Amino acid sequence: MPELPEVETTRRGVRPHLVGREIEDVVVREPRLRWPLPRDLRGRLAGATVRDVERRAKYLLFRLERPASPQRGAGDAGTLIVHLGMSGSLRVLSASTMPGPHDHVDLVLAGGDCLRLRDPRRFGCMLFASGDPHRHPLLRELGPEPLSRDFDGAHLAAVARGRTAPVKAFLMDSAVVVGVGNIYANESLWRAGIHPRRAAGRVGAARYDSLARAVKETLARAIEKGGTTLRDFHSADGEPGYFRMELSTYDRPGAPCPRCCAAIKVARVGQRSSFYCPRCQR
Ligand SMILES: [Zn+2]
Repeated sequence: MPELPEVETTRRGVRPHLVGREIEDVVVREPRLRWPLPRDLRGRLAGATVRDVERRAKYLLFRLERPASPQRGAGDAGTLIVHLGMSGSLRVLSASTMPGPHDHVDLVLAGGDCLRLRDPRRFGCMLFASGDPHRHPLLRELGPEPLSRDFDGAHLAAVARGRTAPVKAFLMDSAVVVGVGNIYANESLWRAGIHPRRAAGRVGAARYDSLARAVKETLARAIEKGGTTLRDFHSADGEPGYFRMELSTYDRPGAPCPRCCAAIKVARVGQRSSFYCPRCQR
């Protein structure tokens, strides 16, 4: 599943091919994604130019603009919001490249390329926001970005006050902080020495400082790794979007903890498997 680092790597990969390019056409081969594609998507996008490609949580925001006309000035033409779901990926290809069975949507760009969405499981989405995309119902309740200054130990400690939910479920709650999926929550809790089942309200301020630092380091390292692994977003071969960083505990029950050599244990926290060291996570 594409996690925040893969989505950020995708953004960095496709952005240089899109900014300043006009969308000439939209080809929809399968409109039934997680939600049906907007019926008027082609009318919304055709003729608009991509001003920038941003990211909020795991949503990619294609910010659009239109040239000035006598009726209305140049400016904002809305935002295409894309989520890659469980299995989605984006590539920039020649528009004449034969589509595969899961290549559901093409944004055809001036000059002959297209941005192609592939999504075998169709849990992704493609939506349009005409106003401020950050006020869209999917985005407006989201917590801070983990790599931003708004996210730190003080934020975690303040939000956790009085909460009895396990700290791991708390950390994966997108209202607390966005983009910390299961594997990154595991890794960050191991780095900070915090047991995944500990009640969120019973983690001290200093330990939340360590945890916030661990989250930032883990995600930054994954993005760096993605940048070296996923070089090619402009190619018909391969499958961009997925990579696996080396992880200390994830999916390694019984293996020695890299820090203390105790055997890694596995437990269910919420609906998800949690891997932890029984000796150095408390
Ligand atoms: Zn250990």
